[in-house]
Amino acid sequence: MNTPTRPPFPAPPGSAFEPVPFPPIALRGAPRLYCFTYGYEPIPESLSLLGGRRDLFMLEPVTGAAVAYDDGWVLLDTGFNTDIVRDPVKRAAHYNFDSYTAVVPPGEPLLDQVAAAGLDMSDLAVCAVSHLHCDHAGGLRHLVGGPPVVLHSAELAFGLNGAEIADAYFREDYDIPGIAYHLIDGPVELAPGLSVFPTPGHTPGHLSFRINLPETGSVVLACDSADLLRNVTGPVPCGTTTHIGLAAAAKASVERLNLLHNQVGTQVWPGHDPEFWATRLRPPLCYR
Ligand SMILES: [Zn+2]
Repeated sequence: MNTPTRPPFPAPPGSAFEPVPFPPIALRGAPRLYCFTYGYEPIPESLSLLGGRRDLFMLEPVTGAAVAYDDGWVLLDTGFNTDIVRDPVKRAAHYNFDSYTAVVPPGEPLLDQVAAAGLDMSDLAVCAVSHLHCDHAGGLRHLVGGPPVVLHSAELAFGLNGAEIADAYFREDYDIPGIAYHLIDGPVELAPGLSVFPTPGHTPGHLSFRINLPETGSVVLACDSADLLRNVTGPVPCGTTTHIGLAAAAKASVERLNLLHNQVGTQVWPGHDPEFWATRLRPPLCYR
């Protein structure tokens, strides 16, 4: 959240963070894409858009998605940790920012979105998390003892070595026994028509997702490598990085997303755009 002061990334990773190949999961049928909204957060334009105004706030949606097949489904990002948000002591200890907080609807947003899509947690085949910020990793606690959780090796390395609450990394979101992390360091296919690829810059190991849908075409979920559609079309990177040395990577990532967006048959969907996300189908409706 703050201006980074630590040395440039990457730091030398330990052997605990070695990536391993991911064998794609053989799910059957054509994929369907469900857009999830887990909550909201007030964000100044300058945080989402390099050069943007610091005194203009947007109430940005906290988003995720499910990609469903005939015999299982894949979860992409998990939203806030409602245990931290709703416990007064934990909330005060974590949401200690001038102008940033979590806004969540009643209930348990992750589980409620899954249910609204007509999906069952027992059929979840794999989860992938774009990065470990508190608005993306907070639902991992629901996956203890569950399927693999795909994450970039550099993201977990930073999450466990150097990341602080001031970075909006809440260690109790992701440093949980029983989470089956599967670390990657390059593009992988998770399931038929569903792939993940690195878009570093916003954080050291940020990932974006690509879903090839039979009717809609190819949808790229940029996540936080492009908060707003203006990031994609500019292209203009988001306003902050966790490390000073990642600004060039953030620029390269958003330029790559811009190229994808300009390809016929491919759409890049930003991760936190209030106006854009309001136009997405909500569960139980989906993109096919
Ligand atoms: Zn983020």
